[in-house]
Amino acid sequence: MKTALLTHADCLGHVTPQGHPEQVARLEHILHALEGLDLKRVTAPLAADDDLLRVHPENHIRDIRSSRPSDGFAQIDGDTFMSPGSLDAAYRAAGAAVQAVDLVLGGEASNAFCAIRPPGHHAEAEKAMGFCLFGNAALAAKHALDYHGLKRVAVVDFDVHHGNGTQDLLWDEDRALVITSQQMPLWPGSGRPDETGAYDNVLNIPLAPGTGGAEMRSAYETQAFPRLRAFRPELVIISAGFDAHQDDPLANLNWSTGDFAWITAELCGIADEVCQGRILSTLEGGYDLNALAEATRAHVEELMKAAR
Ligand SMILES: [Zn+2]
Repeated sequence: MKTALLTHADCLGHVTPQGHPEQVARLEHILHALEGLDLKRVTAPLAADDDLLRVHPENHIRDIRSSRPSDGFAQIDGDTFMSPGSLDAAYRAAGAAVQAVDLVLGGEASNAFCAIRPPGHHAEAEKAMGFCLFGNAALAAKHALDYHGLKRVAVVDFDVHHGNGTQDLLWDEDRALVITSQQMPLWPGSGRPDETGAYDNVLNIPLAPGTGGAEMRSAYETQAFPRLRAFRPELVIISAGFDAHQDDPLANLNWSTGDFAWITAELCGIADEVCQGRILSTLEGGYDLNALAEATRAHVEELMKAAR
């Protein structure tokens, strides 16, 4: 079986103001980099409100819907904007994550990558922030638990920023393990090791500015991977941000493209051990266009190598 690639042209319709790092060109570069790969290409559906309601209260969904401008931009917070196309993009992004769960659990794809924007891992239950409107990875996890009836789902977030939204949305979900590494100090400021979730179900791994591949690999080998194996998830969801790359302009970690390939291969290997290789990935950050495209391609190629 193949690796599925889920995306939708609507995700290119989420326009941000000139100079904003979370720009349309990010997805254009990624899609160009993935051209020619032998992937199962899937058009992402719109999420149903029921999918969103698993992690967001109705008033948050209503607020986002009513914030959509008819032209220009609506500013949601200091760095989060909506354009006329943003609502459909957000529903496609969430819909892709949910559909990826269905494809992987339904045996229609070996694993999956969602090339989507806006990203999701900063969106808290009632708060859009950090370029994110809905919590794509968390709502995919809840869909796997509540709709498919899985007993344990893990989310691994290697974006350079703390996945505060995913942590918030799954904080008191004892069927989910959240593992997130992040540069510290860095926006949004959360993600200390003593933030462990209501059921000791959150593992935060802060990394000092300047952390390179060797230290990152050591941190994952000694902290993240043992916890992940011990949890025995039935599905692994990756929040794939590529802004820990050494070329990224928003942060100061020094991972190479090869480091992103390594961590992907390791996570696929653990998924092979514990859950028949069931793993999917959703795009989060990554703001140097060339590094983003290269690292995303390396990530997807490792998913393809692991497909069976
Ligand atoms: Zn990020």
